[in-house]
Amino acid sequence: MDQNSPEVVPAIRAVIKASALCQKVRMDLAGRESILKSDRSPVTIADYGSQAIICKFIKEAFPRDAIVAEEDSKELRKSVHSNILEQVTYYVDESIPGSSMEAVCSWIDFGSRVVADRFWALDPIDGTKGFLRGDQYAIALALIENGFTKLGILACPNLHVDRDQPYGKRGCLFLALRGKGSVQMDIEDGRQRSLSVSRVNDPSEATITESVEPDHADHLFHQRLAQKLSISKPHLQMDSQAKYGIVARGEATIYLRVPSPSEPNYKEKIWDHAAGSIIAEEAGGKVTDIFGHPLDFSCGIKMEKNHGVVVTNGILHDVILEALKM
Ligand code: AMP
Ligand code: MG
Repeated sequence: MDQNSPEVVPAIRAVIKASALCQKVRMDLAGRESILKSDRSPVTIADYGSQAIICKFIKEAFPRDAIVAEEDSKELRKSVHSNILEQVTYYVDESIPGSSMEAVCSWIDFGSRVVADRFWALDPIDGTKGFLRGDQYAIALALIENGFTKLGILACPNLHVDRDQPYGKRGCLFLALRGKGSVQMDIEDGRQRSLSVSRVNDPSEATITESVEPDHADHLFHQRLAQKLSISKPHLQMDSQAKYGIVARGEATIYLRVPSPSEPNYKEKIWDHAAGSIIAEEAGGKVTDIFGHPLDFSCGIKMEKNHGVVVTNGILHDVILEALKM
């Protein structure tokens, strides 16, 4: 991995600090407290803390870069949520001593919804529902230039490091640079290894991964597709972009995200796919929407030109796209 790219070191440092905050919040069980946003999705102390830390570090290192991020401080600043803001500030202060509540809110608001020619896309906690359940979640940061992802980093603090030991040591960081491959780092000891997708070429041998949440993808359709291709292995249900990580390291062969019938016209958000997709691609995988169109990160915060997502080891991509036409 080319550590000479100027963005790599500051971005990894920011994501690792945010990952430590998220794990601390989880261990203290403060992770149970959440605010329901206007779209009814939950946001926790850790989402805010993670965004504050990453925005602060990225702005410091790259003052001219825009950051497009999922959260803002509007709800947090309301007096009914003052206890939550106090807790966010307490956790951020462990990484950035002397943090005030006002500073934390202002760092969160370095993030906006306005894209630029070059910008960072941040999901401070992807898979908040997984985080609240104690399952998988990810901290996802990508650098996008002229609509193309140049760098992707995913911290998955709760994901097993060794694909063959699902109950073993946890805490991985995935990193990809365009044209330079993908690596997985053990968050604890920093050990790195390069990643490549599975070589499975018989669809019946494939392992499918999909969301846990039934409203985020059409599980029944995924099941029918598996039957059609004689795929018998149970689907690996997992929250967050950790799914991209497990395809990149060959643990799963296919990540399916056919839009759920509860929201058939849902448009995916850039921060839910930018980091994960480059990690799967640079490990040799292929990522498109369900019609085979490349993911387009140039339309603003929503991927207006895409419908669903399909990630494969490349070898099986056309077979899956064809089977999706049923
Ligand atoms: P996952 O953990 O893969 O289920 O994905 C979590 C992400 O799903 C969240 O960050 C949301 O932005 C996104 N999401 C919310 N509603 C939907 C939906 N109806 N369809 C697809 N994704 C959604
Ligand atoms: Mg997300």
